[in-house]
Amino acid sequence: MTDSATPILIWFRRDLRLTDHPALSAATATGRPVIPVFLCDEGVEALGAAPRMRLGLGVAELARSLEALGSRLILRRGAALPTLRALAAETGAGAVWWTRLHDPLSRRRDDGVMQGLGVEGRAFPGHLLHEPEAIRTGAGGGFKVYGPFFRALRARDPGEPLPAPSRLAPPRTWPQSEELAGWRLDAAMNRGGPIVAAWQNPGEARARERLDRFVAERIGGYAKARDYPAQDGSSRLSENLTTGEISARTCWHAGTAALDRGEAGAEQFLKELAWRDFSHHLLFHSPGIATDHWRPEWRSFPWAQDADSPLVRAWQRGRTGIRLVDAAMREMFVTGRMHNRARMIAASLLTKHMMTDWRVGLKWFEDCLTDWDPAANAVNWQWVAGSGPDASPFFRIFSPQSQAKAYDGKGEYERMWVAEGQAAPPATALSFFDAAPRSWGMSPRDPIPAPVLDLAIAREAALAAFRARPRPG
Ligand code: FAD
Repeated sequence: MTDSATPILIWFRRDLRLTDHPALSAATATGRPVIPVFLCDEGVEALGAAPRMRLGLGVAELARSLEALGSRLILRRGAALPTLRALAAETGAGAVWWTRLHDPLSRRRDDGVMQGLGVEGRAFPGHLLHEPEAIRTGAGGGFKVYGPFFRALRARDPGEPLPAPSRLAPPRTWPQSEELAGWRLDAAMNRGGPIVAAWQNPGEARARERLDRFVAERIGGYAKARDYPAQDGSSRLSENLTTGEISARTCWHAGTAALDRGEAGAEQFLKELAWRDFSHHLLFHSPGIATDHWRPEWRSFPWAQDADSPLVRAWQRGRTGIRLVDAAMREMFVTGRMHNRARMIAASLLTKHMMTDWRVGLKWFEDCLTDWDPAANAVNWQWVAGSGPDASPFFRIFSPQSQAKAYDGKGEYERMWVAEGQAAPPATALSFFDAAPRSWGMSPRDPIPAPVLDLAIAREAALAAFRARPRPG
């Protein structure tokens, strides 16, 4: 039997916020003591260098927010199940509640915790606008095409965001906590760590401020401005959404309010938020999408490069000689993010002109993006490569030159990030050389890199290989 003094452990993972947190609100409503906990568990250990560092920044902010409420964040390192069992036994907690996640690794871990915990385990919604099972086709299954998914999602009301609790009842005694600094979550970043960290906007308060500013100043023109990589035209909330420092529902709510005020660009913002839900919907219904071609005919495609080939290395290091792509890869290396259009162009060059398996690019992004999201990364890579559901067809090959002309006509983005060839490069372009490993041997005084491939010839070769590929049975 539980009584009003039996604590509830709130296990934070990718929901590093107090506002619109259904599990936390429900725990607060019971009046029972609440013990917030974050684990350096198998999920954290599996993260790439940049997302792991970024998560650490978010955890520090969450700890501060909890302390401001007179609460604490208890940190423990170890596999989730034994660590939670031990903490529940130590604190006398009668329940562990968390926000449900939908990627395969989290599902495996959480199922194990649910079954082996020994006290009540309960998963709440909150990571998405709608749980993946809630949006169904007429036949009752999951959607594979974005258009009808969006229409079904648009017809549902996600409800109002929940307020942050004003107080969390503390336990009689607090359990010991480890030190966040001792976890060295930034260790794999090497010398790029402080440079990338300076570009981050961690924590719930900053995320909210960013959303408010975006809605007040830019959402009206978002539909057009979001395509220009040199402009601050999009929300830049992906790092906060992926860590859960702001909820998708809070963003949706702000977007619909802007739409009601007549801000036309807000509809496009809602569509992008729905792409996030759609990615998770696809990953939930087809977990293999994170690791394998969704269209099986791609399994036998004759990829031309592997992860160690010189072309791939040039792509990773922003040294392809194709300036828009180099700018994009360097932007990611320095800031932990890359503009959406630039992501599409860079991914297209790798998978199409260079005929490289999209999983090589997926892995590099997984290590470099501070907004890394298991669903969005996989679904978007498969979309660009043409191997996913509702994907861009293989013959749609982005031309970096025409994209540069259309979306960076004055070369501002390229100059922002590629130093070579500029008499006085800006600090952004120079900082790449401070972030890049010395072993890459790059200097801003190097000559402008020559293109590593002829775009027209590479395009024709990719199209020929595509036409000759084995067709589904
Ligand atoms: P906004 O334009 O302001 O959009 C608002 C929010 O909608 C974003 O913060 C994001 O949560 C969501 N969103 C927008 N576009 C997409 C999309 N295409 N798919 C899914 N959700 C979207 N996004 C990630 O969050 N993590 C990733 O790991 C990731 N990897 C990608 C890999 C490739 C190859 C490509 C082409 C795209 C990838 N994206 C990823 C999607 C997209 O590029 C980013 O979400 C976007 O650039 C983030 O900027 P923003 O916050 O200003 O977005």
